[in-house]
Amino acid sequence: MGQALDEARAALETDDVPVGAVVVDGSGAIIGVGRNERELRQDPTAHAEVVAIRQAAWKLDDWHLTDATLVVTLEPCIMCAGAILAARIPRVVFGAWDDKAGAAGSVYDVLRDRRLNHSVEVVAGIEADACGELLTTFFRDGRWGGARGAR
Ligand SMILES: [Zn+2]
Repeated sequence: MGQALDEARAALETDDVPVGAVVVDGSGAIIGVGRNERELRQDPTAHAEVVAIRQAAWKLDDWHLTDATLVVTLEPCIMCAGAILAARIPRVVFGAWDDKAGAAGSVYDVLRDRRLNHSVEVVAGIEADACGELLTTFFRDGRWGGARGAR
């Protein structure tokens, strides 16, 4: 989570909402890192999780991340939950809850929806205060381009 937090802080440099993610393989080695790059790239899909998952799959030359754990500072949204399921990632660890858009137990629980063919173990609230504080400070300080930056 420390490395994910570092990635989240780096997102501030491009005025992106500070969310960071890492993908760790079965031996504990980091195989993907990502930060929210939506503003940087003007790409609505460039969430930290998607960036990290793409890098991990590229590194393994295999889209099946069946041995991996995704660690992210904020509860994944619906899109990212979809990407996690598509990559067959078995375990997700996240920091702060996202009461407005979370899809790992708050608004939705896509990752543990038994109707789907893949279910994910979810560990929530790891270093939640540090992860949430970054976001609270970002929005409070107005480093955010109004509606354009709404997550
Ligand atoms: Zn997302």
